Amino acid sequence: MKKWYQLDVEHVEQKLQVTVNRGLSSKQVEQRQKQYGYNLLESKKQTPKWLIFLKQFQDFMVLVLLAATLIAGMLGEFVDAVAIMVIVLVNGFIGYFQEQKAEKSLEKLKELSAPMANVFRDKRWEKVNSRELVVGDIVKVGSGDRIPADIRIVKSSSMETEESALTGESLPVMKHASAIMRDDLDAGDQVNMGFMGTLVTRGSGIGIVVGTGMNTVMGQIASLMSNTKKIPTPLERKLAELGKILIVVAILLTILVVGLGVIQGHPVYHMFLAGVSLAVAAIPEGLPAIVTVALSLGVQRMIRKKAIVRKLSAVETLGCASVICSDKTGTMTENQMTVKEVFLNGENLTVTGDGYDIEGHFQIGKQQLKRDYPNLEMMLLYGQLCNNAALQVKKGKYFVDGDPTDGALLVAARKIGLSTSNSESFQVIKEIPFDSDRKRMSVVVEDENGRRFLITKGAPDVLLPRCNYFLEKDERKILKEQDKQNIEHAIDDMAEKALRTIAISMKQLSKDVSLETGFLEKDLTFIGLYGMIDPPRKEVRHAIEECRQAGIKTVMITGDHVKTARAIAKNLRLLPDDGLVLEGQQLNQMSTDELEEMIEDVYVFARVTPEHKLKIVKAFQNKGHIVAMTGDGVNDAPAIKASDIGISMGISGTDVTKEASSLVLMDDNFATIKAAIKEGRNIYENIRKFIRYLLASNVGEILVMLFAMLLGMPLPLVPVQILWVNLVTDGLPAMALGLDQPEGDVMKRGPRSPKEGVFARGLGFKIISRGFLIGAVTLIAFMLTYQNNPENLIYGQTIAFATLVMAQLIHVFDCRSEKSVFDRNPFENIYLVLAVISSILLLLIVIYWPPLQPIFHTMTLTLRDWMLIIGLGALPTVLFGFTKR
Ligand code: ADP
Ligand code: MG
Repeated sequence: MKKWYQLDVEHVEQKLQVTVNRGLSSKQVEQRQKQYGYNLLESKKQTPKWLIFLKQFQDFMVLVLLAATLIAGMLGEFVDAVAIMVIVLVNGFIGYFQEQKAEKSLEKLKELSAPMANVFRDKRWEKVNSRELVVGDIVKVGSGDRIPADIRIVKSSSMETEESALTGESLPVMKHASAIMRDDLDAGDQVNMGFMGTLVTRGSGIGIVVGTGMNTVMGQIASLMSNTKKIPTPLERKLAELGKILIVVAILLTILVVGLGVIQGHPVYHMFLAGVSLAVAAIPEGLPAIVTVALSLGVQRMIRKKAIVRKLSAVETLGCASVICSDKTGTMTENQMTVKEVFLNGENLTVTGDGYDIEGHFQIGKQQLKRDYPNLEMMLLYGQLCNNAALQVKKGKYFVDGDPTDGALLVAARKIGLSTSNSESFQVIKEIPFDSDRKRMSVVVEDENGRRFLITKGAPDVLLPRCNYFLEKDERKILKEQDKQNIEHAIDDMAEKALRTIAISMKQLSKDVSLETGFLEKDLTFIGLYGMIDPPRKEVRHAIEECRQAGIKTVMITGDHVKTARAIAKNLRLLPDDGLVLEGQQLNQMSTDELEEMIEDVYVFARVTPEHKLKIVKAFQNKGHIVAMTGDGVNDAPAIKASDIGISMGISGTDVTKEASSLVLMDDNFATIKAAIKEGRNIYENIRKFIRYLLASNVGEILVMLFAMLLGMPLPLVPVQILWVNLVTDGLPAMALGLDQPEGDVMKRGPRSPKEGVFARGLGFKIISRGFLIGAVTLIAFMLTYQNNPENLIYGQTIAFATLVMAQLIHVFDCRSEKSVFDRNPFENIYLVLAVISSILLLLIVIYWPPLQPIFHTMTLTLRDWMLIIGLGALPTVLFGFTKR
């Protein structure tokens, strides 16, 4: 049997029952999907649910608690033992659901950032999730894409791939479409095949899918690949470390409490159970898990704002960003290009019409030009030939499939009545694709009479030095210094109007001339210039201003002409009057030190190549900045990787940049970066809020027990009560804090330092001071009641229990503000209000419902009791609300 690479394209088509110029029908796709399944590499087995559930109990202190409970049970304390067991079980369930939730949202993330494939079905190109591909699908890949399945290439435009993932060979392989007649070729030598997971580094191509999922070369070695582990974020790591310290502290304090209790004459095993319960409650073992949940909830909020976080740690880093380096084209602008002016025969032509709509005319002054205006038809036809985009109509509206710059040229050509049918008499023999380094694109075409032309279009300042002639009316003239100046003048004119400029040029080639790339693009004849508008996105100006107020500098990076860049930067109010604009050429001449010296004043980098981006990132970083850098092309990947927050484009981005990035903008929009930063800051603040809440609560719980033992009093809280507090009061409200709204000024203060510790900005003081007071008021409530009713210990314990809970539930509102509780509307966060109400209800149930009273050691309280409880409970929060510290 012949291999795919040995077959002609027609044979492949026959075998797979598909033709390249129509694609599969949706029926065929459906049927093949059913038959062969998804185009997925099977990943490792997942941890079974029951194991995740069991894992909730592997915590050392929880095990000790269970053992202690068992002993208590055997000693006859039946009710206590069962109650504790139930509480521990419920706690386990909650932990389990939290973990599941975090897991699910991570899964969803993966799905959202799953690679897409460009596929031709029913005569239409569409984008589908790569896993939907089936054998026989026609797919298109371009530079920067990962090939989504094994394909037999049917068309290659200088397509090169990097297959080191498969062959270990990192040199790019040139791909072509013709069959190879040799036997037993290795994957690396099958140069008419594209393999799943390998990378297109240059050019583009079209192929027929011949293998999907595990039936690919990659699938055969998939078993060798390991699943990537989840790496903890910096904050999670800091908290894990802090957790270890807190465990030691909590255990030491517990031992102290137990020791004192025993010395005071309390029964040993009573004290032991109380101590272990206290340790379980006081150790914030759930903290890292809640942080993960908060981070992933934040990630979901970001998704709603069209930002996909690929690495959880980016959520944290986002809040630290101090510089955003953003591409201009497509990120700050709409990426909807329209040719507005043309320079031809030394004259300035204007073009009417907006967007991609094909209605419009060419004019000089007020006078409308006909198709016979000298060279106009040629210029527009060549623009159409040296082109990679397609103009399509959907419901009467035109849109561009492909590069918008190319699309604009197609629309311009339509305006004098040219269309694709005019290109059909030409055959494209060779294409040198556009990339941001070369800033130009060329094709070699052959007309019906066998004459060959090279057409080159690109950045005018790149093209002009390669031109020796220019066209004027019907003459080809030698390009002299004066003519060059005229053209440069026209370029400047356009650029100052914020127009993106493209020059187009040509030369005739005789048949015997080598088509070797290095020899082609020189000695050209300049034809004319296009000037196209790309309007700024509406929301960007405001977003830049908001960033400025938040202490974040926005820097524009573009391959465009300096003057175009400057005009747009001015329009966006990105460039202040004393701000500098640097060009790629200047960057080349500068040493890193020189660049660092001035970089704080630079706001625009123009005519840069992707390589420059790396230098820019490094310079800002050396100045102590946390840099966010955007990119879309293959060559942007190194800079994106080097930056602190790599950002890629969801629509126009390539797979490589997406893989290198930690944030993907679903809408390619600069304003989304701002939204993500705001969300990132907010999430971090919310995490601070519940760390503060949980730790202050724990401090309170430990202190009340410690003080009581020091003062030689009975236990103010019994074990079940302590565990109940740990479960209810510390659980729900803390989660709700994670969903809190930002304090009004999150975008009005400077970025947070990434070195900042967990307790920075006064958090440590807040925890200790509030915790101390919470413990104190609980003890006071207990003492007042107990001293008057020494015969009724349960009375005092119920009061202490209720006071502790109420003090915490009031204090939770204090945690919402870095300043004072009175600064914020307590009803703003509906989740928190609901969490507090349900906690209070649960408290009332355990106090008032007779069947629960013996279990929780509680008794019915009066209204006067509640006045004492609430009065004392509110004290810590109200007091600190006035001090504002
Ligand atoms: P950016 O995306 O930052 O605007 P590019 O690197 O894409 O910059 O483009 C740089 C210059 O290359 C443009 O100003 C334009 O003159 C030229 N150019 C852009 N796209 C094309 C294209 N498809 N073909 C030829 N030249 C192009
Ligand atoms: Mg571009």
